[in-house]
Amino acid sequence: MATEERSLVEDVKHKQGKYGGFSFGGQEPDGVVVRNPLPAGTVFPNGATAALLLTFDVEGTYGNGTGDMSVEIANYQRICDKLKDNGIPATFNVVGKMAEEQGPEFVEWMLDADCEVVPHGYIHEMYQRYGGDDVYAGHYGPDENIKQVQEGVDAISRLTHKAIRGFRLPYGHFNEYTYDAFEQAGLAWSSNLGIDDFIAPGLGFGNAPFQMQLGEKVYPIVEIPLDSQTYDWAIWIADEQANAPFVKAVRTYCDMRSIPFTRTPACGVGIWRQRMLDAIAGKTVFTLICHPINLAVRSEAWGDPVDEFMLPVIDQLGQFHRDRQAWVCTCGQLADFYWKTMQS
Ligand SMILES: [Zn+2]
Repeated sequence: MATEERSLVEDVKHKQGKYGGFSFGGQEPDGVVVRNPLPAGTVFPNGATAALLLTFDVEGTYGNGTGDMSVEIANYQRICDKLKDNGIPATFNVVGKMAEEQGPEFVEWMLDADCEVVPHGYIHEMYQRYGGDDVYAGHYGPDENIKQVQEGVDAISRLTHKAIRGFRLPYGHFNEYTYDAFEQAGLAWSSNLGIDDFIAPGLGFGNAPFQMQLGEKVYPIVEIPLDSQTYDWAIWIADEQANAPFVKAVRTYCDMRSIPFTRTPACGVGIWRQRMLDAIAGKTVFTLICHPINLAVRSEAWGDPVDEFMLPVIDQLGQFHRDRQAWVCTCGQLADFYWKTMQS
């Protein structure tokens, strides 16, 4: 694949438009204004003063993942069963083309577990449609962005028979044309920006969801920042040579929290648990992100990452939810809660 030897962290901002880019690995998009963030200490619907969101980017081998897609897809049944057992929902951001070609069964498992299913683009790599090597939405103009957003929305809504309320872009990379397309599609939320940045402290948009503003334009969209630093991929897939910034970010967090750094799923559970505890202590919101194609990567260094990483994480979230230490919700639920709270 053309992108295989490229680092994900490139010095690429918006190639078209005035604003945008992505926020990981010491980079920050241009023009984002954090407007009306949800205040710390807000009391959530189950009485907790923190909210935790479990989100999945479902992309098989349609993106840059290298795991076994048939294993990934089969895993959704176990993941959804575990969510149901714990009585908590997750948000699945699914590549539209993958849902069309590999679904609908796995999408039905997600809906059956009361989860929210939304697009993660229609295609994952924009060059697959337009040629050249421009991968990201923020490299393209209004027409291409409308197509990427609307076709993603159409593909997922056809399978779910539900109105689509949100969107996560591949690589979280955008420009103002992307947000214009979100607005045109009537979306309520997006989740593209990074919460924090351990490589370049000071970058990052904070934990709290906020109303998106790009330059002068305010969008009727709740932006829900996500963990772009200690997510699954960085912990046990990233290679120090090809993607040193990811590994460095995880290591930095481990050092800050006295967590021994090992590139294993079990270490990932410890890191995620600490991130959850940080959000609970800070009375704020935290959005976890997992790429389940990485749960289908085999290695001598681990067994089944679903058993060793994902299921323990879901049990932990369920326990925090039941103990009312956190409200575990979907992005759509958080967006609804945001407007209700900010308008009262
Ligand atoms: Zn992706």
